[in-house]
Amino acid sequence: MSSEERAKVWDEVIRYCENYLEFLEDAPAFSPFGDKGKSLLNSPISEKAISIQEALNILDVSVDHMGHNTAAPGFLSYIPISPVFPAILGDLLAAVTSRYAGHFHAGPGAVRMEDMVLNWMADLVGFPKGFAGNLTSGGSMANLSGIVCARTASKIKARDFERSVIYMTEHAHHCLDKSLRVAGLDECIVRRIPVDQSLRMDSNKLNEAILADKAESKLPMIIIATAGTTDSGSIDPLDQLAAVARRHNVWLHVDGAYGGLFSICAKGKQALKGIGESDSLALDPPKGLYVPWGCGAVLVREGRHLYDAFQGAGAYMNDVAAPGELLSPSDLSFELSKLSRGLKIWLPLKLFGTEPFAAAMDEKLLLARYAWDRLGEMPGFERGSVPDLSIVLFRYVPSTGTANELNEKLIEAMTADGRVHMSSTRIKGNVFLRLAILGYRTHQESVDLALNLLQEFAADLEGSSPLKV
Ligand SMILES: *Cc1c(COP(=O)(O)O)cnc(C)c1O
Repeated sequence: MSSEERAKVWDEVIRYCENYLEFLEDAPAFSPFGDKGKSLLNSPISEKAISIQEALNILDVSVDHMGHNTAAPGFLSYIPISPVFPAILGDLLAAVTSRYAGHFHAGPGAVRMEDMVLNWMADLVGFPKGFAGNLTSGGSMANLSGIVCARTASKIKARDFERSVIYMTEHAHHCLDKSLRVAGLDECIVRRIPVDQSLRMDSNKLNEAILADKAESKLPMIIIATAGTTDSGSIDPLDQLAAVARRHNVWLHVDGAYGGLFSICAKGKQALKGIGESDSLALDPPKGLYVPWGCGAVLVREGRHLYDAFQGAGAYMNDVAAPGELLSPSDLSFELSKLSRGLKIWLPLKLFGTEPFAAAMDEKLLLARYAWDRLGEMPGFERGSVPDLSIVLFRYVPSTGTANELNEKLIEAMTADGRVHMSSTRIKGNVFLRLAILGYRTHQESVDLALNLLQEFAADLEGSSPLKV
């Protein structure tokens, strides 16, 4: 395309983006599924070219207004993702300039930027010099990288996997079960360590389990802790778990995909005490640093373990002998081809400075506490324990009828309304609802709206319950 042709396309794309960003300011959190994108197929991929207007129109009709609007203010389900504008531009610039960020020799600036961002994160969580890290495609990939690294560092061989033990709670993210399987560790024994009232791993029970396993000649291999579970935002007692891990010489992997980046604000740092004692840590910049989907981070305390797990080169890479200085991302991860992921983190941090990010995280912690307090004054609602971070767990207990059924209907009613979107989980067989407060457009109004709607719909449902006489 010539520069004149590009100018016209830019204009159209910018107009589309601006309209969309305006829409998001007070967008519903959920848009009806409509035809589920089937109208896309009315314009098959063929030899025929279409205009940018037509293409954007297809996006508008068939893609961008159905399902979850995760960046909308009322999106309070799962873990909300809402990228800030400079982060969006970071992805755009990375694609335009197409710097190769896999190898230092090919893109020294891009690799140094990734390194700089990783160093900044390591500093936030208190990792010492000598760590190594990698910007991955997401939180699941960061966790998988940590698990593969732990397996390599343990030096345990496949013939002993059947007597090797991995410890976690039932609240660990399901990507860790997947990671174990992909890492070839599904023959290991997995012990689900009991949790306390606040759904945090019981470190005494962990210690006892390891002692019992050692007495039976089993091989404790990895402890997997969570810094902010998806269910309830609970933080396992990281400092205590690190002490147990060190005592028994077992690798401690921490999944901090949702919670780890709360380290940026003082209250979060306090709640995450001990996170820097882990051997490997997964973070997820879209959650907390407001970058677009498709970016995770793994940090490994003793960097050589990450290198040992992933280093490799083919004969066709003869001409890329690194001039020293920095390790290449391709030697610290499974990936080779890689667009710069550092740019979408670096640009917002530089354009805004870190302060607004800390303030946003602080606000989310306050909002969660506010929601928890208000729930205590709402008749019929039962709360989980005080939130560790920004997820509030609760349910409605009806005067008659089954609570699970009513809470499922409550979620359906919220989804049908669409202004606020929430999701549920099960704790010991009981359906619990979650308010996950993280989006940067989510402020007190959205939390109030959610709580008011919950009260209204719960009252309606109780009134209409056929069991109620
Ligand atoms: C989001 C999340 C993951 C998975 O991260 P993806 O980026 O979705 O792959 C893992 N663990 C926790 C605690 C999470 O919140």
